[in-house]
Amino acid sequence: MSGCAIPLSLPVDRVHQYDIVVVGGGINGVGVAQAAAAAGCSVLLVEKHALAHGASSRSSKLIHGGLRYLESGNLRLVRQGLNERRVLLRLAPELVRLRPFYIPIYPATRRRPAVLRLGLSLYALLGNLRPAARFSSLPRREWAGLDGLRTDGLEAVFRYFDAQTDDAALTAAVMRSAMSLGAELAMPAEFVGARLADDGCHIDIRTAGAEQSVTAKVLVNAAGAWVEEVLHALQPPVAPRTIVLVQGTHLTVRGELRKGLYYVESPRDGRAVFVMPWQTGSVLIGTTETKFKGDPDEVRPLAAEVHYLLSVLRHYFPRFGEAGQPQVLDAYAGLRVLPAGEGHVFHRSRETLLDTDRAHRPRVLTINGGKLTSFRATAAAVMRRIGPSLPSRKPRARTDRLRLGPVL
Ligand SMILES: Cc1cc2nc3c(=O)[nH]c(=O)nc-3n(C[C@H](O)[C@H](O)[C@H](O)COP(=O)(O)OP(=O)(O)OC[C@H]3O[C@@H](n4cnc5c(N)ncnc54)[C@H](O)[C@@H]3O)c2cc1C
Repeated sequence: MSGCAIPLSLPVDRVHQYDIVVVGGGINGVGVAQAAAAAGCSVLLVEKHALAHGASSRSSKLIHGGLRYLESGNLRLVRQGLNERRVLLRLAPELVRLRPFYIPIYPATRRRPAVLRLGLSLYALLGNLRPAARFSSLPRREWAGLDGLRTDGLEAVFRYFDAQTDDAALTAAVMRSAMSLGAELAMPAEFVGARLADDGCHIDIRTAGAEQSVTAKVLVNAAGAWVEEVLHALQPPVAPRTIVLVQGTHLTVRGELRKGLYYVESPRDGRAVFVMPWQTGSVLIGTTETKFKGDPDEVRPLAAEVHYLLSVLRHYFPRFGEAGQPQVLDAYAGLRVLPAGEGHVFHRSRETLLDTDRAHRPRVLTINGGKLTSFRATAAAVMRRIGPSLPSRKPRARTDRLRLGPVL
């Protein structure tokens, strides 16, 4: 995981009053900090470890509409993702790159060519039929050039385009953009509790062993898998939504993929798994979906998940099994926040769900779940919801015009 080069800056030389305090330096927290600063608000972001310490450095690193969300009929989510992909390709060309994705079809593949063709056509339509949204069927003569993809039984290969990023680097870039507009960052600094008053919150933060208090009109709870902990530390308490945490593991193994990313089905259960080039000399494979209970700080890849992902890799790319096991360079697990419900987690909504402590002039807003891809849209929705609680400010910028460069 890449680190970030943003310095600690807890201000100590003046009264600590903010329009907004954000808890959590993942992509959603930094997105809100950026949108708030762009709207002219004073904003402090509090992160207990490092930027992107949680799910935002453990994702599949895709900036996408999410082809698979078409299966659950979530067209709104897919359209929003494709729109955000278009914006981020323009704002962050060094960090978000369009890549070819290949979907191989074998006799046992559950998603048959006709269904895939339909899905890819819909994906293209939702992407407004721009060139980057088009797909094709790869001629048979090109199959041998697909990074050693198993060709026995291969019936067809579809190619479409989506984008890949470095999630931690993107998070750092958004925070840097927020800071350039005046947002402040306290890190490492832990939110320990808040008292809600009629017109805002008194918030306690622990940094370097000492506690400090600040006030805010609105507290934005962007603590990812820790959102419930934050809500439990409010006085009076605010009831959390019922959520489930679902662990997703990725592996990096030594090796190379030159052509692009592969979207394959696990032969065991038909789940979609990505096999992707990642940094020099390594291949990223993910992800799993395992229900998680316990302390989010303790999430770790399970041996069964590692085994599952390696077997998918060897099944589709036999060269990774030729000299024994491929060399695993890293394995990491992140937690998705999903709404509780019936049925398999695969089919649960991936929408970002926003909750407030009260309908009128909220003092606390909680961000549940969502996607890396849609952080800007989430931040805009957050600003709309908390707008009535904030003083009127003169906007400084628009987030769809703020360039995001790599943080060196
Ligand atoms: C396995 C997996 C794969 C995914 N793949 C993709 C993908 O390819 N594309 C996509 O668009 N989305 C993907 N997602 C979704 C996306 O990664 C998440 O929705 C997103 O990263 C969540 O960001 P967040 O800011 O809400 O939470 P997080 O990134 O988890 O950030 C929460 C932060 O809050 C901090 N924190 C917690 N408690 C406190 C406290 N008391 N005080 C201070 N700080 C605190 C934590 O340290 C952490 O840094 C994936 C998610 C997972 C789990």
